[in-house]
Amino acid sequence: MDLSEYEFRSQPWFDQENFQGFNEAIPMKTMVVHCFDPRAADIPDAVAKHFGDEVFPGENVLDENGNRVGHTRTLFSLANAGGRAVDALQAVATMDYLFRFTTVVVVHHSFCGATAFRPDQLINRYRDEHNVDISDAFRRDALTIPHFDESIKYDLALLRSHPAVPRSTKLFGFFYEMNTGELIEIARDVPA
Ligand SMILES: [Zn+2]
Repeated sequence: MDLSEYEFRSQPWFDQENFQGFNEAIPMKTMVVHCFDPRAADIPDAVAKHFGDEVFPGENVLDENGNRVGHTRTLFSLANAGGRAVDALQAVATMDYLFRFTTVVVVHHSFCGATAFRPDQLINRYRDEHNVDISDAFRRDALTIPHFDESIKYDLALLRSHPAVPRSTKLFGFFYEMNTGELIEIARDVPA
């Protein structure tokens, strides 16, 4: 099955060698990294309201034929287990190329499943139940959330020290109390 007609690189109007970014189609400026716990699914909305100048969820922009050629959203949501930044690095690099966005926000939430176990418990269960050793498969200190304050600061430091995160990127770390909807800033790293 040839699906190449659905790829940008095969469109006659698309110049891959002179790519200027997709910001005219989607004005992305912020990436929110958070947990995929369904109880915490309103984190992106809470962050958008907190900053006040974001559009979320926004809506599709259609051309005259009804094709989705853009979107009004400025804040992108990236969900994973615990909302850990280690799983966001490839997305940061890709989005920097496509959108040249400015801000990454890490949010960890109350009663997160990642606070329910230690890394060695997960590793031992894989050994006992699946008969495999995953002790070196992941960054052990980002596998769980032992303390919220530490995990949020760790993630901001990880982002700041990683070569794929541009030096100019603004970083914010929040704790989200999902029962009250309160968003508390724990750390920020905003270059002058
Ligand atoms: Zn969670």
